[in-house]
Amino acid sequence: MGFLTDSIHAGQEPEPHTGAVITPIFQTSTYAQKELGGEIKYDYARVENPTREALEGNVAALEGGKFGCAFGSGMAAISSVVQMLSSGDHMVISSNVYGGTYRYIDNIVTRTGVKFDFVDTADLSNVEDVAKESTKMLYVETPTNPMLTLTDLKAAAELAHANNWILVVDNTFLSPYFQRPLEFGADLVLHSATKYLNGHSDVVLGITVTSDPDIQEQLKFIQKTVGAIPGPFDSWLVLRSTKTLGLRMRQHEKNARAIAEMLKGHPKVQKVYYPGLPDHPQHELAKRQQRDPEGNASFGGMISIETGSIEHGKNFLRNVKVFTLAESLGGVESLISHPASMTHASVPKEERLQFGLTDGLVRLSVGCEDTEDLLEDLDQALVAL
Ligand SMILES: *Cc1c(COP(=O)(O)O)cnc(C)c1O
Repeated sequence: MGFLTDSIHAGQEPEPHTGAVITPIFQTSTYAQKELGGEIKYDYARVENPTREALEGNVAALEGGKFGCAFGSGMAAISSVVQMLSSGDHMVISSNVYGGTYRYIDNIVTRTGVKFDFVDTADLSNVEDVAKESTKMLYVETPTNPMLTLTDLKAAAELAHANNWILVVDNTFLSPYFQRPLEFGADLVLHSATKYLNGHSDVVLGITVTSDPDIQEQLKFIQKTVGAIPGPFDSWLVLRSTKTLGLRMRQHEKNARAIAEMLKGHPKVQKVYYPGLPDHPQHELAKRQQRDPEGNASFGGMISIETGSIEHGKNFLRNVKVFTLAESLGGVESLISHPASMTHASVPKEERLQFGLTDGLVRLSVGCEDTEDLLEDLDQALVAL
């Protein structure tokens, strides 16, 4: 089936008892058993819940994978994925990953005996330089937050498989509508579904997708054992939201393209980071690996800009009216943020400056409002600087 059809139907059948077309919220912690030792599909809701299961099947189909595994947050998904590793194992991870991922690796993984190296995975020779006998996992985020640098997924998968590592891709920034990493050979895709998959800024949830039964078995075991599960209502909200994922992504991108063009020519903007601009250093790679289901090159709804100084950044944030100053991204409403003091506050300054995350950098999560309203809002906020 096509992407839009799958997004509406995959993982869901009319509910057999009543015929309800929409998967119910199975708000229960336990299930009646017919007899002792009889065959049971559901016994306890940490282990399985039909609403969660429908969501897992739905997102798995959208990513072109076989199995989904939903978690209480993107971070719960990420930490569960890393828990597949054991003390002494080594992982290589993109250097400008999501700030929370950095914080988790730098403060918690350090206590577990799992070894890691952060490298710029835009150049995969950096990965080879730090790889060891004990390397088991290559973890990338593409495009990265907030610098929007890309990692070549096909080349990363080839490198990983030549060495028997698993390739994990955080696909939060594009959603499966614009990028399906499993098609390039990734073993596992993960999302903060809090962002585009849910898209309405009213849920925190995470999800992984794989086609590898062995990885799925490990993740399901971790999910139920550590209890990192989402509740049925949150699962239901995301399941409702993925039905419009494609429609929303089209509008996010239409708006983002127009805004990137406008900002690029704006005298108050020093630099625009958007993979859709021909001067983005990885524009060609973006065209190759970021495609909508019809095969059109796609660049997503995230843009970062360099305003030149903390004062300019602050005033710009203060001047906008349609954009809202807030953490997070991927919702239908446009948001604006200051990564250095918000999402990336836990990354040491010297480290973030190395990859261009300056005090004047501002990140836009372009929403689904009318294009003209967004263009006007940004222009008036910049002109006033
Ligand atoms: C938000 C985010 C996460 C963390 O997800 P939560 O749902 O907030 O726990 C991970 N990766 C990326 C790219 C994100 O944007």
